[in-house]
Amino acid sequence: MTGPGAPGPLYRGSAGAEPPCGGITVISGPTAVGKGTVVSALRLRCPDLWVSVSATTRAPRPMEREGIDYHFVSNEDFDDLIEHDGLLEWATVHGTDRYGTPARPVDAAVAAGRHVILEIDLQGARQVRARRPEARSIFLAPPSWEVLVERLVGRGTETPEQRTRRLATARMELAAASEFDHLVVNEDLGATVESLVDLLGLATPTPAKVNP
Ligand code: 5GP
Repeated sequence: MTGPGAPGPLYRGSAGAEPPCGGITVISGPTAVGKGTVVSALRLRCPDLWVSVSATTRAPRPMEREGIDYHFVSNEDFDDLIEHDGLLEWATVHGTDRYGTPARPVDAAVAAGRHVILEIDLQGARQVRARRPEARSIFLAPPSWEVLVERLVGRGTETPEQRTRRLATARMELAAASEFDHLVVNEDLGATVESLVDLLGLATPTPAKVNP
């Protein structure tokens, strides 16, 4: 592996014995449902969360930063990660680029008692369910199909062909919502984040009111 974006030894292999689990939460949902925005807001609300940074063969978009938004890797580097059992799960998403969760940092975070968040697609969610059955899974749904289309068109980051492909995947993903432990409709960002905080058991108890 070469280049500044290449995953180092940290990403090779799994960290030995299967770690104790229960600390992993998978957040999935169709394109443009707002997964990224929800996870960023959740991280601000609960700074102790550990959010996995995926590896991807997709080219960075403007403003995306290596190691923060993704580890941007070549096809060869991605093959190498698969070959060395460096990914907890991986998938070709929207029929184009590959995305995967580096296994070792997740194992280390779980072993350190961190609450781990994976923001991944349906195929990845299924693999995590098979490999880490204790992991919790949450499906983020749009308020309606029309709202989803509006959001996808509105964000303007895809070509018309890419949009068509993403919407076809979205239909399939919405049909799989019942596979998940919980479903949260992302209508209002604040309300969605509070639902997640509740589901993850992260709400801090309000201090008892003391009368003067
Ligand atoms: P985008 O290219 O818009 O950043 O992401 C496209 C899709 O890839 C999203 O549905 C996102 O959830 C999914 N994705 C991001 N990282 C991973 C990953 O590590 N594994 C899998 N399976 N999907 C991912």
